[in-house]
Amino acid sequence: MMILKLCHACDRIIGEIELDDLTNNSADPIMDIVGNVAYALCPSCLNDMEMAPRNIYH
Ligand SMILES: [Zn+2]
Repeated sequence: MMILKLCHACDRIIGEIELDDLTNNSADPIMDIVGNVAYALCPSCLNDMEMAPRNIYH
């Protein structure tokens, strides 16, 4: 089953993924699957998040 992958932060469509692949490859922990849509972060938002000054827990 193909599911749509959307960016959590900017709602951009990142792509489509095969849900079966996802379960086999132990999903990206950042990914949140709701119905047939997977919310994740696009590379640019991921980058922003890594650069964010409030990211003090690492
Ligand atoms: Zn984004």
